[in-house]
Amino acid sequence: MTMMAKMSCKFNFSAGPAAIPSDVLKKVQSELLDWNGTGMSVMEMSHRGKQYLPIIEEAESDFRLLLGIPKNYKVLFLQGGAITQNFMVPMNLLNNGTASYVVSGYWSKRTFNDAQPFNGIKLSATSEPIDYRKAPQFNEWESSKEDAYLHYCSNETIHGVEFFDTPNIKDVPLVCDMSSNILSRPINIENYGVIYAGAQKNIGPAGLTLVIVRDDLIDVADKRTPSTFNWKIQSDNNSMINTPATFSIYIAGLVFKWILARGGLESIEAQNIKKAMDLYNYIDSSDFYYNRIDSGNRSRMNVPFSISDDSLTSKFVSEAEESGLYGLKGHRLVGGLRASIYNAIDIEGVTALVDFMRRFEKNN
Ligand SMILES: *Cc1c(COP(=O)(O)O)cnc(C)c1O
Repeated sequence: MTMMAKMSCKFNFSAGPAAIPSDVLKKVQSELLDWNGTGMSVMEMSHRGKQYLPIIEEAESDFRLLLGIPKNYKVLFLQGGAITQNFMVPMNLLNNGTASYVVSGYWSKRTFNDAQPFNGIKLSATSEPIDYRKAPQFNEWESSKEDAYLHYCSNETIHGVEFFDTPNIKDVPLVCDMSSNILSRPINIENYGVIYAGAQKNIGPAGLTLVIVRDDLIDVADKRTPSTFNWKIQSDNNSMINTPATFSIYIAGLVFKWILARGGLESIEAQNIKKAMDLYNYIDSSDFYYNRIDSGNRSRMNVPFSISDDSLTSKFVSEAEESGLYGLKGHRLVGGLRASIYNAIDIEGVTALVDFMRRFEKNN
């Protein structure tokens, strides 16, 4: 007999790597040893082989279908996480020019800092002086039409700050880090020059980074850019200038099919709105818990909250785990608590969390 863990996870609220739909995990399990009658695991297949190619091709076409990605955009399946794009973006776009960066929380600040070794990196706007409680408004964003691009992050995973509209900027290509809210709702791709996202929040396992690049931006890379970091070379080689993260791509493809089967991004969005409302409404109705983010920017994916009596925080985390609710400890930088409610967490997950919060409040 195998040893049983004392407690086991019913709902995983981790910020990333995060929950993956259990239907997807079951499918992976069922075909782990023998994919589609090949007698091989996807893990063992040559990335250029005839068994594997349909897997990456279908993943790309389903991803394009979900987001409505127009033909004049390339989709790349890269590695290195979102953070690697912090230098790949300037290497591929800056071309000795300038670029502006909006800072709305930890991740976009880190992106701005990581770009500093390049010349011409400017701060567009920042909400750091107000502790990132409200995102910089579009009319405060500064940029120049000579800029090679304007960078922002559409959802700050740690601070729980999300932009719901897209800035209407026509003269500078927008580059967006969508790591933690991609596929949570429909977006208009045509408003963007480049979108990138690490997979481990709302797409699939770690090790894969999706990059969407408009055709006119793909061929301006600094000539010294190494091949694996060069969007154009990767694109010309179907993301296979070296071995891509084959197994992560396969699971991402299954997640795309799972979203399509649930009606695509409109219905996913309706569910995400309901989940976030249920949780924020409860937090607001209670004097025991609070969230300080401006109501117009409260993230639907990552809900940081605190207990008025902070000394109860670790008790909350351990009792939540005893009830099967995992991953609720806040990020070490901001403390408190955080519930990440990505697509894979359904309404029942949020209901279980709110029920637990209510019980904890009553008992304490
Ligand atoms: C998690 C996250 C990152 C970092 O991703 P890595 O894959 O660890 O490089 C960057 N930006 C945002 C918005 C994130 O949520």
